[in-house]
Amino acid sequence: MACVNDSMKASFDVIVVGGGHAGAEAAHAAARMGARTLLVTMSLQAIGQMSCNPAIGGIGKGQIVREIDALGGLMGRVADRTGIQFKMLNRRKGPAVWSPRCQSDRMAYAAAVRQELEAQPNLFFRQDMATDVLTEPGPDGRPWVVGIRTQTDQTFRASYVILTSGTFLNGTIHIGRKTYGGGRAGERAAVGLSASLEALGFEIGRLKTGTPPRLDGRTIDTSACDEQPGDDTPRPFSFMTEALPERTVSCWLTYTNDRVHELLREGFAESPMFAGRIQGRGPRYCPSIEDKIDRFAGKDRHQLFLEPEGLDTYEVYVNGFSTSLPEATQLAALRQVAGLENVHLLRPGYAIEYDYFPPHQVRYSLETKRVAGLFFAGQINGTTGYEEAAAQGLMAGINAALKLRNDEPLVLGRDQAYIGVLIDDLVAKGTDEPYRMFTSRAEHRLLLRQDTADQRLTRLGHELGLATDERRTRLDAKEAALAETIDRLHATAVTPEQVNGYLEAVGTAPITEPTRLNRLVLRPEVTLADLLDATGRRDLAVPLPGLEPVEELAETALTYAGYLEREREMVAQMQSLERYRVPDGFDFAAVQAITLEAREKLQQIRPDTLGQASRISGVSPADVSALMVLLKKHRQPAGDGASAEAEPAA
Ligand SMILES: Cc1cc2nc3c(=O)[nH]c(=O)nc-3n(C[C@H](O)[C@H](O)[C@H](O)COP(=O)(O)OP(=O)(O)OC[C@H]3O[C@@H](n4cnc5c(N)ncnc54)[C@H](O)[C@@H]3O)c2cc1C
Repeated sequence: MACVNDSMKASFDVIVVGGGHAGAEAAHAAARMGARTLLVTMSLQAIGQMSCNPAIGGIGKGQIVREIDALGGLMGRVADRTGIQFKMLNRRKGPAVWSPRCQSDRMAYAAAVRQELEAQPNLFFRQDMATDVLTEPGPDGRPWVVGIRTQTDQTFRASYVILTSGTFLNGTIHIGRKTYGGGRAGERAAVGLSASLEALGFEIGRLKTGTPPRLDGRTIDTSACDEQPGDDTPRPFSFMTEALPERTVSCWLTYTNDRVHELLREGFAESPMFAGRIQGRGPRYCPSIEDKIDRFAGKDRHQLFLEPEGLDTYEVYVNGFSTSLPEATQLAALRQVAGLENVHLLRPGYAIEYDYFPPHQVRYSLETKRVAGLFFAGQINGTTGYEEAAAQGLMAGINAALKLRNDEPLVLGRDQAYIGVLIDDLVAKGTDEPYRMFTSRAEHRLLLRQDTADQRLTRLGHELGLATDERRTRLDAKEAALAETIDRLHATAVTPEQVNGYLEAVGTAPITEPTRLNRLVLRPEVTLADLLDATGRRDLAVPLPGLEPVEELAETALTYAGYLEREREMVAQMQSLERYRVPDGFDFAAVQAITLEAREKLQQIRPDTLGQASRISGVSPADVSALMVLLKKHRQPAGDGASAEAEPAA
């Protein structure tokens, strides 16, 4: 591990504050792109720590991990190395929403992140707490970041600073009536930084999240629970993974019941949430168990997934039982659950409140609007989840390194990546509750399938110097093999004798004349792999590098070709709005032709383009039309969108 000495204090290009999921990706990306980078974090042991569930991916999130990997980031490779159960979620739905997920070995995951970072030249480490962001007046009148000061009174100078402080800023932990400062169980809260940012004029907010208790697995009776094994043919996150770990585990499903709900309700009087001691808003889609039984009072049971925390520990995470009720209530209620009658608690569940900075204060590059050279990434921007944090960290690291090279920032479009959707939602709409990704947030889901992340992003990652040559070569090989397979399917016809037995067996009409395979695969009952097996034409499938099955990819490409075409047309229409750039300093408040709500929102968020303006809640299509007329008066949109800046309205 490269440590810092006195002579280095003035010599960094990028400082990353925080070694969580955002910080790890930011530091890795910036260093790999050639920036001399310092990672300052409160505990070196806690680098890459999973604060809550021992799992990576899931619906909407798995796609993000694939994209991080395609660009050359860390998360996918680390998740593959340390996964203990792999599943493709949403298999019963269309491939547009298939979402990879894995259970992780929590300790192995954090250790692997640290190993990856330590193997990175250009990356230096310092265990310390940043307390102040240091700035100097810049040539544009704004403060420019010049470094940080730490709790140990050290000053580190750098051209760019990326803050990824997660749940730590003025963190307050709640369990029943007990309240104390902390950034995560067993770790201190970070103090000083919020005040420093407020003094620089940043708007601050408070959010809340919670975590379930952890149980002693030796005291669980799994025979009373339903086994939840992983997939028989597990799929990796990383496009580079050749083999997944062989040792895997099952999870277990059990349920709450009326008695559990009754006991939990008895604890409500001591609930920090119901008693109003927690002010911050919690994640809507990840409610606590007390919230669930309160809001869905008619529901007589809720699922609880018992998830092992690793291969070499008996600690078990109770997914679905996030709570901040008193510890005694937690235990009494859990002991009423089938399989948990004799359970021992290793760690109680708790809630945490922390400071965040509403994300309308950052640009698409994640650089703050208020302080030049200062970036925010991860939970500090109001998101929740490892994947959302890692994606932002990656983009902030890339953009700090690009800025160092005097290059334009990398901004991914909503039609290009879930990462683009995430950042656009944050910047254009802001958030006042913890934001998590879902496939439903993406309007171009079909273009953003998990299996195409490399085709969408690896060339970009390679040009940036982040994705390796080997990764790029693999992509070329994959595309060639896929195209060849599809060509062969177009060129090969099968006879009724060859295929009718299979067609009838899967419940679809037999054919009466030779028919090409690319036509047959369009039938919903047919899968390409089975079709090739049934007709003895497996030889048509050209194997892809890695663990991806070419039959699945070719089938999806053929089945969705028409829809994809339509989707691309829609994207082109939307992009015309992106070409209308809003000049800096444009006075939305002075535009009488739009509603008061639109004026207020636009003035607060200050969109860069009309496209961004159109996605702000409260801005109607009529407002967009009025703005377009106004912007058009000054200049026509440019063909490539690069220089289409309109002048401010008089
Ligand atoms: C109790 C709890 C429950 C959660 N529940 C869920 C959930 O149900 N679902 C979900 O998706 N996500 C949940 N999360 C959130 C998830 O853990 C985060 O979204 C994710 O870890 C955020 O990543 P991050 O990199 O932004 O921050 P973190 O992972 O929190 O990492 C922040 C890092 O910054 C360091 N740091 C902070 N301030 C300073 C400073 N001033 N100086 C130096 N270092 C600093 C910390 O030491 C830490 O290493 C939960 C988190 C907690 C704590």
